Order: sequence, then C-alpha cells, then structure tokens
Amino acid sequence: MSATFKHNFGAGPCILPQPVLQRAAEAVKSWDPVGLSILEISHRSPEFESVVKETEMLVRELLNVPDHYSVLFLQGGASMQFCMVPMNFLQGRKKSAAYLDAGYFGAKAIKEAQLFGKVNVIGSTKDSGYPRLPEGYAIPEDAAYFHYTSNNTIEGTQMWANVKSPVPVICDMSSDIFSREIDVSKFDLIYAGAQKNTGPAGLTIVIAKNSFIDSVKHPVSSMLDYRIYRDNGSMYNTPPVFAIYAAMLNLQWLKVKGGVKVIAKENLAKAQLLYDEIDRNPLFKGKAEKEHRSLMNVTFQMENPADEADFLKYAAQFGMVGIKGYRTVGGFRASLYNALPFESVKALVDCMQAYTESIIPHGSFHPTY
Ligand SMILES: *Cc1c(COP(=O)(O)O)cnc(C)c1O
Repeated sequence: MSATFKHNFGAGPCILPQPVLQRAAEAVKSWDPVGLSILEISHRSPEFESVVKETEMLVRELLNVPDHYSVLFLQGGASMQFCMVPMNFLQGRKKSAAYLDAGYFGAKAIKEAQLFGKVNVIGSTKDSGYPRLPEGYAIPEDAAYFHYTSNNTIEGTQMWANVKSPVPVICDMSSDIFSREIDVSKFDLIYAGAQKNTGPAGLTIVIAKNSFIDSVKHPVSSMLDYRIYRDNGSMYNTPPVFAIYAAMLNLQWLKVKGGVKVIAKENLAKAQLLYDEIDRNPLFKGKAEKEHRSLMNVTFQMENPADEADFLKYAAQFGMVGIKGYRTVGGFRASLYNALPFESVKALVDCMQAYTESIIPHGSFHPTY
C-alpha cells in the first residue's frame, strides 16, 4: 500500500467516515450484542431487528419523515427502482407518466418505464449533453406521476427547488439524500441507492407515502411490490444485513455531527472552495452551467483537454483518487459527499494551484491566494 494519504473523490461507492469503517470492521470480526460476526447473524434475531428499527428511526429523524410515510430497505440499487416504479404506478393505469430527461440516470429510468406504459418526456437537455436542467416544462394534470432526479451524478447538476406538481412526485435522490434538508411531504416516493451518501452498496432506501403505495391495485411480483416490503418490515426475504448495519453507523455519525442542517453547510463550503478555484484558475473550467451546479458532484475540465491526462498523473502523486470524469463524459469529476473532509477539497485546490504554477511562467499567473 502506498504511504500517500488518499483523498477519495470517488462518485460511488463513495467515501465513508473513518470511525464508521472502523466500527464496521470490528463488527465483521465480532459484533458485541451477539458475539458472532455481523456477516453470520440471523436477520430474524432480535439484535438485528433493533438495527433495522434504529436505521429506520435515524432516516425518519434526519429527514423529518412524516408518520404517514414508510421507510423501506430494499436491494437492487437505484436501477431496480427504474423498473419497480413504473411496474407499480404506471402499468395498467391507462395514463402516461411524466419524466424529466436531465442526465444519464434519468434517461435510464425513462427507458425502463417505457416497458410498462406510455412515457411523456416533458423536458430534456439531452441534445446539448445535459449541461443544465430542463426548464419551462409543464406537468400534465392527468399523468400517473412525475419522475425526476434531484442530483445528476455524472453531469454535475442539481435541482434545488421543490416542484409544484398536480400529480404524485417520485424522485431519485441517490446522490444527494442526507446532504441537505428536504421537505419529504412534497414527495410521494423517494428512492436512493445507498452507496453514494448513505452507506455501502447493496442497500436501497425508499421513503414512500402510504396512501401512494396503497393506490397500487394490480398484482405485482412480491419482490417488486412496495406493499410487501412495508407490510413485512423490509424482511419479506433476507435483507442486506451488513449494508443496513453500516448505513446505520453512518447515519449515527451524521446525527452526532448535527444532522443534515449542519452537513449542508459543510457541503456548501466544500463546493464553493472548489468552484471558486475552477472559475479563477486559467487552466480549468466548469462543465455544468453555473446556475445548476451540483454541490455533490463537481464536474470540470481543462481549457486544453490534452493536459488532462498530465494533471491526473500529477494529482495522483498527492493522493487524489476518483477525480476522472465518467467514461462517456471525460474531464474531471470530484464528488464531495458528506464524509469527504473539507481538508481533502483544500488539498485538491492546492494541487490545482501548484500544477498551474508549475507550467505557467512565474509572474504571468496572479493567484489571489
Ligand atoms: C448511482 C446512481 C444510480 C444507479 O444506482 P445503482 O445503485 O448502481 O443502481 C441511479 N441514480 C442516480 C442519481 C445515481 O447517482
């Protein structure tokens, strides 16, 4: 192993807090309440049932989830929700579903929904390569639901405003859940793959309004039926025991820190520091349009794309990991999830400045720092 400290800007599975990793590692060896590894305990044991309960309570507390919503623990990733949502809420309804096409994952959700009914793409920025969010669209009043992605992980755009919708709102919050305060009551169903900001891969969190789940009247395959998860306390089959446990530790960490209100401030400060550097450094430029920039995934590139490989190599020497942009997008992407310390962003900014000074003749580049 290299001695260089690693600053993990990976987009997912992503950085988790060190104390969380340590406690999870200990529990893999032996988990106190049972005296067995967390990997080998029964999911029906009272000890694990209390883990599920506590994880649910933490989700409820951190996001202020109203009582008439269920918190569910599923598997299959956010990608399984791309099909589970239309299978439950579009199939057989003689309505179309309204979707926003604002990025790679939203487009994947649309593709899946088309298997189950009519999809109405009411706004898209695909033709320009998703540098911004669609605007000026209207949600049809007869739609089965409206689906959008709150944070476009690959393109680095984020939607902040709550949508005024005449129909149920479903949101893929995989990459910004728990990063900021949200008003759950504005949504009918929220889903998130855990590996972006909640825990390790293998767990998907769903927060759903009970009346919305109960609007499903047709038979749905058990493992794809939200009602089954709710009515069985997410234990219809074996849940992802370790992933739930590690997510619980991470949410405990977040609660001790002061919750989403506190972390949101830190996330803003981290993103501001990096965007400021991108905007003033002559070698770099942002990819997403300013007014729609994401605080979670900062996408940027070099004025001269030929320099990018060189900068990546340079940055790697200083422990920068995971800053290469998504394979179809290129450039760079620095993901600034909750567990990434401010110091890591500072280290990346220092690295960009040092690189710039090393190739621009001294005196011709006037940093303000
Ligand atoms: C990563 C991601 C997905 C895909 O998640 P999986 O858990 O890998 O299926 C979907 N939506 C968004 C916004 C993501 O960031």
